[in-house]
Amino acid sequence: MPIIVHNTISGLPDEIVPGGARKDRVEDYPPVSIYSCGPTVYGYAHIGNFRTFMFNDFLRRYLRFRGYAVNHAMNITDVDDKTIAGAQKDRITLREYTEKYTNIFLEDLRALNIEPVEHMPRATESIDAMADIMERLRERGFVYEKDGSVYFSIAKYERYGRLSRLDTREIKSGLRYDTDEYEKDDVRDFALWKATAPNEPSWDTPFGPGRPGWHIECSAMVRKIFGGTIDIHTGGVDLIFPHHENEIAQSECAYGEPFVRHWIHVEHLLVEGKKMSKSLGNFYTLRDLLEKGHSPRSIRYLLISAHYRKQLNFTFDGLRQADAALDRIDNLIVRLGDAKGDGPVAAEVSGAIDSFLAKFAATVDDDLNISGGMGHFFDFLHEVNALIDRGTMTAAGRDAVITALRALDAVLGFIFFPAQADAGVDAARIESRIAERAAAKKAKDFARADLIRDELLAEGIILEDTKDGVRWKVKK
Ligand code: AMP
Ligand code: ZN
Repeated sequence: MPIIVHNTISGLPDEIVPGGARKDRVEDYPPVSIYSCGPTVYGYAHIGNFRTFMFNDFLRRYLRFRGYAVNHAMNITDVDDKTIAGAQKDRITLREYTEKYTNIFLEDLRALNIEPVEHMPRATESIDAMADIMERLRERGFVYEKDGSVYFSIAKYERYGRLSRLDTREIKSGLRYDTDEYEKDDVRDFALWKATAPNEPSWDTPFGPGRPGWHIECSAMVRKIFGGTIDIHTGGVDLIFPHHENEIAQSECAYGEPFVRHWIHVEHLLVEGKKMSKSLGNFYTLRDLLEKGHSPRSIRYLLISAHYRKQLNFTFDGLRQADAALDRIDNLIVRLGDAKGDGPVAAEVSGAIDSFLAKFAATVDDDLNISGGMGHFFDFLHEVNALIDRGTMTAAGRDAVITALRALDAVLGFIFFPAQADAGVDAARIESRIAERAAAKKAKDFARADLIRDELLAEGIILEDTKDGVRWKVKK
């Protein structure tokens, strides 16, 4: 079964064909080359940014789940107007400033259980590759220089505008252009290389000292890392124009070959139905939510669970629903732990697992429909609960279900979440305190039993008395 994903450039659902040539078997494909536009490190990333970064993580995890290898790059924009201004304000070097926010960004990714990608290049470390593109563009007559800056001349590139399909009148009017970029021949043109002002950091190139424009950074890093056409390029919908349009122009004019086979764009995140903005007071970083007591696990759940082509309406009620869904998952895993019966995996159990995994893949293969896939997941949990109720779950059955959940969690990343609170939990000691409490109860020493429960609670361990005995879990 192929994976079919909407391709922004064709406007149609297209099959993902790594390397561009169809093979008989998934394992014969080369690794899927993916490039994702990364953050500009001038402050804390907001949860809208993390929606897009979460999608990138889901995409790579899902491709691997389906048997493909991935080779994924995401850049760090560590030089632009905002980073330069931030460093000047804080009276530190640009490098010190961007290191600080890069590290914060990496910590946030870790907290959300977003996997590290194979390549994370910094713009300031790819100046050679940028100079190479500019050199080629100059040889081919696509650029002009003015006052120490180098511009791409869009009039020279007939195929401009294919990705965004912008109305030519809109392009001509300059309505959507950056007009504050120095002196350009044509309002549509964009700077590849910017002459720097005194006291601004600059790099030497054959075009003179200066600093890179934003668009050239991504074109240069794609070339440096992958050497040619890549399979997938991702970003939020706001990057379609002009950023990705400009990346295509630079790369295709410089190297004379297609830049990207598959463009995937993620819709925006809204907060309580509105665009996030500081003035509306609905602008949240990850840390803002953690400080309010929400868990990174619930945030991951919420961010991953919506279809990438639909706007995601982030609400506090949605976070509470995520908590409830995670409780359902945790409770099932605890219940499974009690399945201790002998005997092989029951046919109903293996049948439920196989049918669930097949339905999950078939659903997600169709335009990465994760919300549909999660619907099947909750049906499966319901079925497993029913099988436990009916006494069909043996220890071997439990192991088979856990193996399936682990395979699924390689995509979702929120089932067996690496909770920091779990680190250092001594399960054997907790079990022995629970046994102590049971003995106290039996001896009708209820005060002691309650004391043990409260002491555990103070350590963040929650006890639950259920009809199948006492369960414990770590408070998230
Ligand atoms: P930036 O650091 O502004 O370049 O953004 C990093 C990534 O986040 C880009 O792929 C943007 O398209 C994406 N992005 C920005 N705002 C939102 C939003 N509200 N919802 C989803 N993605 C966003
Ligand atoms: Zn980019």
